[in-house]
Amino acid sequence: MTALAELQALEREHVVPAYARQPAQFVRGEGARLWDAEGVEYLDFQTGLAVTSLGHSHPAVVAAIQEQAAQLVHVGNVFYSEPAIRLAQRLARCSLGGKVHFANSGTEANEAALKLARKAKPQGTIVSVHRGFHGRTYGSLSATPQESKQAPFAPLVPGFVSVAPNARAVAGAVDAATAAVILEPVQGEGGVWVLDEELLRAARAACDEHGAALIFDEVQCGLGRTGTLWAYEDAAVVPDLMTAAKALGGGLPIGALICSPRYADVFEPGDHGSTFAGGPVTCAAALAVLDVVEDPALLARVRALGARLAEGLAALPGVVAVRGRGLMLACDFADGGAPELVRRALLEQRLVVNATGPATLRLLPPLTIGEEHVDDVLQRLRALL
Ligand SMILES: *Cc1c(COP(=O)(O)O)cnc(C)c1O
Repeated sequence: MTALAELQALEREHVVPAYARQPAQFVRGEGARLWDAEGVEYLDFQTGLAVTSLGHSHPAVVAAIQEQAAQLVHVGNVFYSEPAIRLAQRLARCSLGGKVHFANSGTEANEAALKLARKAKPQGTIVSVHRGFHGRTYGSLSATPQESKQAPFAPLVPGFVSVAPNARAVAGAVDAATAAVILEPVQGEGGVWVLDEELLRAARAACDEHGAALIFDEVQCGLGRTGTLWAYEDAAVVPDLMTAAKALGGGLPIGALICSPRYADVFEPGDHGSTFAGGPVTCAAALAVLDVVEDPALLARVRALGARLAEGLAALPGVVAVRGRGLMLACDFADGGAPELVRRALLEQRLVVNATGPATLRLLPPLTIGEEHVDDVLQRLRALL
């Protein structure tokens, strides 16, 4: 195994420096635990950003991947493939009804949603909200109103507007020329902000009034993360289009666009596609993931553990606010210092967490943890603070 210092030197020489990395090289994982190259054990409350939601190397996911990989890895979208079709059936049944289109990532699922909404309302504008994050490709980036992410890559895609994340602003931005409103019911990268029900209802009403598509990006907040299978269930506002990705493949790259019946046949053959999307291995993994997260008992535990974690975070020294739902939580510190806290957590407490900003720590543990993990993370954070 190459030592970390040597790996860092190799990276500096050969890898485009697009990522700011933490000083650790993980080589093995199991449940909520990770091990580095020296065999040191860590507690993972980041899960690769809400990806390994069932913990590392969940046996059902590993078995599904191994079995499918041994049989057939790729065939392409010009043929029928049962895992993808079964997964589409499962995803539609547990959400919007309708039909599903596969992608390889969150941003690609959003690209599909945006293109589909534009095809349904030609030349239409797309409305997004501040603090939102939808991905790094041009369409998704154009719906991600953050100066630092957009400015170096101007000009962006035309026809996108962004407004403040409140009911009045969203309702005011939607008119006859609007093709879609896109938002995250719980904003992840922006710092874990639960959008209020009034906003979601206003967006729904405005889209209905003007014949626009309401797109919920549940790439991060979906699939049990907030304690319901989909975050939209909590507000009982149902979108027309929904995207999922991060946790769907149990660690493998997959994205999905779920279309309500009304939008199910907007795309016709040749409109959109991807070489790898809907591949048998990723879809087999996703079917195994759904078997685990569709369990009401697991979802109830996510809610209970989330409440326990939120309460514990609020009692930590220096914490001024706790936000989020289920096991998608963030806390703000009065004095900032979240990035430094993340680094110290890794090096001093062997705890893997993440900062969404200078003063905000985000916690995205596996959904399969127990009380002991919640108490453990609180103890490690208390020791740091
Ligand atoms: C991570 C994320 C994306 C982008 O997903 P990628 O797989 O990185 O392209 C889009 N939307 C939300 C809400 C996300 O959290």
